[in-house]
Amino acid sequence: MSTTRNKSKIEGNILNSNKIQNVVIAGGGTSGWMAAAALSKLLGKNLNITLVESDDIGTVGVGEATIPPIRTFHKLLGINEQEFMKATHATFKLGIGFENWGKIDDDYVHSFGITGKECWAGEFHHFWLHGLNKGIQSDFGEYCFELQAAKAGKFALSKQMPINYAYHLDATIYAQYLRKFSQKNGVNRVEGKITKVIKNKQTGEIASLTLESGEIVNGDFFIDCTGFRGLLIEQALHTGYEDWSHWLPCDSAVAVQTKAVSAPIPYTRSIAHDVGWQWRIPLQHRVGNGLVYCSRYMSDKSATEKLLANIQGDTITEPRVIKFKTGRRRKGWNKNCVALGLSSGFLEPLESTSIHLIMSGIIRLMRLFPFDGIQQSAIDEYNSKLNSELEAIRDFIILHYHVNQRDDSEFWRYCKDMEIPASLQHKINLFKETGRVFLDDGDIFRVDSWTQVMLGQGLMPKQYHKIADIMNDAELNKFLNGIKSSISNAVQQLPTHSEFVERYCKST
Ligand code: FAD
Repeated sequence: MSTTRNKSKIEGNILNSNKIQNVVIAGGGTSGWMAAAALSKLLGKNLNITLVESDDIGTVGVGEATIPPIRTFHKLLGINEQEFMKATHATFKLGIGFENWGKIDDDYVHSFGITGKECWAGEFHHFWLHGLNKGIQSDFGEYCFELQAAKAGKFALSKQMPINYAYHLDATIYAQYLRKFSQKNGVNRVEGKITKVIKNKQTGEIASLTLESGEIVNGDFFIDCTGFRGLLIEQALHTGYEDWSHWLPCDSAVAVQTKAVSAPIPYTRSIAHDVGWQWRIPLQHRVGNGLVYCSRYMSDKSATEKLLANIQGDTITEPRVIKFKTGRRRKGWNKNCVALGLSSGFLEPLESTSIHLIMSGIIRLMRLFPFDGIQQSAIDEYNSKLNSELEAIRDFIILHYHVNQRDDSEFWRYCKDMEIPASLQHKINLFKETGRVFLDDGDIFRVDSWTQVMLGQGLMPKQYHKIADIMNDAELNKFLNGIKSSISNAVQQLPTHSEFVERYCKST
């Protein structure tokens, strides 16, 4: 093939060969300011970054539980942990406690820790299953340090006993914190309401945003962080939405904040009710509460009453109903626009994955950033990786609803009987029949997460991997007891979570 032909083939994939220098972020919630912070810190020398936000519209104001990779994001930005925790009234999070999920009065913790010991040949749960066959009585969770520390309300950072954790944080303050950070790094903030999105007539790309004041904000590349409305990605570019609500039927939440009445625990509580679930997210000074429900089976009024009847401490905000549709935008990156946060789609907060998706979207965009023009291959790569990540998270969340023994309401019966994605059905079958778990591309959860939740929801495998027979009874007992007692000793030595948080935040 001639060089000229090769060249023209490559050039044929360039959608826009203009250099990208002016980036406009529309929206200043968690997603807008996370994007501004990362781009300004890491690519600020090459880009002019403007963020437009409207004080009148405000932010969604929820989204306070995170998962561990947020620490990597903060490291990338050079954020000081103690300073960040003090500013956002953050607490440490070691996992999520699920109550009434598998069945009423059952509970389990999905923790961020490794259970037992990692082994190249077969995962720890096979050894535990072998132990069960031999009559041991211990729960799977007794072999996980983070899980036991969470249950005991303890926490410490130590080199001897590393601990995997995330944070509970105040979402509004977090956005303000990142705003300060970004403005220090040169981000230009424009306050005003976007009333029009102007497109280039030839290319259909976004050219500028018109504000209520008449001001025009021009850009080469746009990041849509305008929340559920998706002002750029949907209202201007008509990207389309894939609805997943037949698998995840909850479509509403009511949220309220309360004063703290007890020391904060180091995990999120997720308490299932007859039509969804309730969250409790403990911060240093207050608690975030919310009830997630399906409007087919519960009215907003009943949900609000139910929530208010199940909180502790005085309310400090008015209850606020938020409506959502679970699913994803057909393309996260369309033309010269990438959608982040709520504008890119929504998976309910059961496993606290939305802020993580914002972060991974930002990192993927930075890796593929089209400085010298937009290539279709970059768009395709971005969208394909995003799709695998979303589908793996979607399956993990559906798992909680589908695998359970609750039949006390129409809602739970629907969830138990509904058809689920083939990818999830396969994972469930594989675990049930063989005890094996294999991760899919893009899965952000580890084998430990899948096993903790499948076992927690009451799915017990019929078999275990025979590698576990490598140990005779005495060796197996010694192995399992050794792990359990070293965890229990280590947990005993930890200070309480609240003592540690207080000391840690004071010493900045
Ligand atoms: P928003 O916060 O809605 O921000 C939108 C921004 O766009 C605002 O600044 C607004 O002013 C601006 N804007 C909109 N229209 C215009 C306009 N016309 N002109 C100018 N500016 C405009 N995630 C987690 O990771 N963990 C959780 O525990 C969690 N819990 C959640 C609970 C619920 C009930 C919901 C609904 C979401 C939850 N999330 C959670 C998701 C999380 O809240 C969001 O991912 C996160 O807050 C990001 O929101 P956002 O920045 O995309 O949108």
